[in-house]
Amino acid sequence: MLGAAVMGMGPEAYALGPEDRAGVPQGGETGVASAADVSRMAIIIDDLGNGMKGTDEMFKLPMKLTVAVMPFLPTTKADAARAHKRGDDVLLHLPMEPRQGKPEWLGPGAVLARMSDGEVRKRVEAALDDVPYAIGINNHMGSKVTGDERVMRIILDVCRERGLFFVDSKTNYRSVVGRMALEMGLPKVENQIFLDDIHTAGHVSKQMSLAGKMARDNRFCITIGHVGVQGRQTAAGIRTGYESLKNQVVFVGISDLLREEWHWTPKPLLP
Ligand SMILES: [Zn+2]
Repeated sequence: MLGAAVMGMGPEAYALGPEDRAGVPQGGETGVASAADVSRMAIIIDDLGNGMKGTDEMFKLPMKLTVAVMPFLPTTKADAARAHKRGDDVLLHLPMEPRQGKPEWLGPGAVLARMSDGEVRKRVEAALDDVPYAIGINNHMGSKVTGDERVMRIILDVCRERGLFFVDSKTNYRSVVGRMALEMGLPKVENQIFLDDIHTAGHVSKQMSLAGKMARDNRFCITIGHVGVQGRQTAAGIRTGYESLKNQVVFVGISDLLREEWHWTPKPLLP
């Protein structure tokens, strides 16, 4: 039985082998033996809201997903509603400025590092109001903004005011989000592994096995895949991975992990 679900544990902690774990501070334990014996995986699917390829295939997957929907796009509302109806968790997938990459990849309503405090707040609130059922936010791109304390403080403030949390997609290893979230009394929740950094079903199912190993070693794993040009391949790889993991890992939504591992329940204020 592993008891290393420490609030705020960074990805570096997941690299520890079992023999190293004795030195890891024991915190955040559920105190329930059956819960501690279960390995959980939360799969976040990014980039919904624009009728991208793979959307239907993702919604046909047999497990609970966490669906991250971009604001102000043609299928934003439909995708969020569809996810909610299926019992999936919904996140706002907030476009945030990257260090590199084309501005047009960001999509409408993006948060840029050069914006004033007031403009950042206005954009985050408008984006949240546009995505129904959102219980939290994760970043679309954002390697620049997730390293910017001033802008992140405003985004996390809005999360706190609205009973939401922020999942750092970890597009930037210098991200300040985890540390700031802890300072502000929010859970530190981070993507641990991208499923489709190479866009073939074979690679995605391999990443699924890796995520499954992380879940078994560390009680849980948070992982991200995407709809998009190669979205059908990603969905196919997730399905294959699911078939080989379904007896070892419980697939949950991010809100289930928050409750069970962080003892934190989102309380979204409805617009
Ligand atoms: Zn994205």
